Amino acid sequence: MCGIVGYVGHRPALDVVVEALRRMEYRGYDSAGVAVLDGRGGLAVERKAGRLANLEAELDDAGRDHFAGSTGIGHTRWATHGRPTDRNAHPHRDATGKIAVVHNGIIENFAPLRHELEAEHVDLRSDTDSEVAVHLVARAYADGPTAGDFVGSALAVLRRLEGAFTLVFTHADHPGTIVAARRSTPLVVGVGEGEMFVGSDVAAFIEHTREAVELGQDQVVVITADGYTVTNFDGNDDVPTRPFTIDWDLEAAEKGGHDYFMLKEIEEQPQAVADTLLGHFANGRIVLDEQRLSDQELRDVDKVFVVACGTAYHSGLVAKYAIEHWTRLPVEVELASEFRYRDPVLDRSTLVVAISQSGETADTLEAVRHAKDQKARVLAVCNTNGAQIPREADAVLYTRAGPEIGVASTKCFLAQVTANYLVGLALAQARGTKYPDEVAREYLELEAMPQLVARVLETVEPVRALARELAASPAVLFLGRHVGYPVALEGALKLKELAYMHAEGFAAGELKHGPIALIEDGLPVIVVMPSPKGRAVLHSKMLSNIREIQARGARTVVIAEEGDEAVRPFANHLIEIPASPTLLQPLLATVPLQVFAAEVAQTRGYDVDKPRNLAKSVTVE
Ligand code: GLU
Repeated sequence: MCGIVGYVGHRPALDVVVEALRRMEYRGYDSAGVAVLDGRGGLAVERKAGRLANLEAELDDAGRDHFAGSTGIGHTRWATHGRPTDRNAHPHRDATGKIAVVHNGIIENFAPLRHELEAEHVDLRSDTDSEVAVHLVARAYADGPTAGDFVGSALAVLRRLEGAFTLVFTHADHPGTIVAARRSTPLVVGVGEGEMFVGSDVAAFIEHTREAVELGQDQVVVITADGYTVTNFDGNDDVPTRPFTIDWDLEAAEKGGHDYFMLKEIEEQPQAVADTLLGHFANGRIVLDEQRLSDQELRDVDKVFVVACGTAYHSGLVAKYAIEHWTRLPVEVELASEFRYRDPVLDRSTLVVAISQSGETADTLEAVRHAKDQKARVLAVCNTNGAQIPREADAVLYTRAGPEIGVASTKCFLAQVTANYLVGLALAQARGTKYPDEVAREYLELEAMPQLVARVLETVEPVRALARELAASPAVLFLGRHVGYPVALEGALKLKELAYMHAEGFAAGELKHGPIALIEDGLPVIVVMPSPKGRAVLHSKMLSNIREIQARGARTVVIAEEGDEAVRPFANHLIEIPASPTLLQPLLATVPLQVFAAEVAQTRGYDVDKPRNLAKSVTVE
């Protein structure tokens, strides 16, 4: 996730591009950069780590005079490959300095492409996956069948790229032309009067035009001041596009038309899961982002601790089921704030998996330090490239959910659950408890999940209606078993955080040992049903639990797999989700609970982006 913009027109491009970046800064703030034609046959470029303000200060210091042209591109980075530094900031340039690129996404096959360029002594000046694209275009432009043809060179390179990318190229020898392409990441075209725009979203150009064009998968757009042409990667222009008129105001545009960032982030979950998988399975193997441990050290792990706080802790509870099942290693999940004060038994064959969205969570960071003091190995699962926890860890797997603005975590939870599955599979692969073909099969099942998450999102309207109906309830209980138990805890936490409502999650089997005393007439109880096929025993036990609470007057809201007929008679309200492998069900079952909590909170009149008393990243113990 990052913000990309391209402009060709009659105004000074620098102003248009910087303004667009300001509107899209929520998409990433690891660095910002611009490349604008200098009006003398070259490109003027400025790039700076950190927020856009740093770039603007740099532009003020260095002077803006040489940014004379009316063709330019810009980028706010959300780092995936390479630390958030000046040298890794986009735009990246080729050796002549005449071609520049900005990139959103991940070029999965960048490593072999990089080797290919290095073998030709091309000087790569960043650690990003993105930079290869500009050198490849420069090479195609310099020589061979596409020599001298900017668009043709870009097309030839696009056909070689794997992964997910929006790429925008500019070339000093082709002023007034910008080439942009997309595969699995966003790109919209803005159609102005004598000027054209491309952007990651309409916020990039909404103050200049409301006429836009949505591009399809694997499409390339070439913009000039007077118009645009769209083709596929083969240059064929017989492709579908969707022109539309933007009817949002500026503020809504930044939130993708939603009232709150959190609602947008809930919608982004299929992408967050897909992006988190991206690049983590190559040549039949699960790969981590950073590994400063030998394979032997990973094989020697004989115990796993998962440490985390809040929502991340719930993702860790899901991880326990998956890691134990796939690796036969004992896994303990612990609140980071409790972990180091109770003298946990750790040694060099213990792996501590530390999960933190920000990578700065103080409790988790201190737990990591304690674990390292005891010689344990640490694997970080984190959403922020180069943050403190991944820096101190021995191995890192990044969730790639993009920046999360809403304080209550949604897409980062799904991304963490996904990343934790990958950690489980990486350990199973290292220990040989799963054959490579079994690991590949599990991975394929994971790959099918983003589409299923999208299907859940398409069917949540009745959940909203139900939430409005139940918004006045004094309390809501949540029940689950197996991986449904952490989902119940997460559903309750979301309702507490957002709607300030008394909510509790319980392991359904535990109910009769105490909490059932809470059940009274009309109390809403949300139940996460296991799959009737995947875990038949659990399913029938859960049916008994629902009967027990219904008999005591509870109003049951049941989240169940499509086609689960047995549960229907016991559900006052049924929310169906697609069938999925049992271990992966939390990726689906959590989504209606997030929507429910957000809608209850809105009905009660609360700001779901900024719940009271809470902060996004908790950097105090
Ligand atoms: N993978 C690229 C990088 O790490 C692009 C990241 C982005 O989308 O901002 O620089």
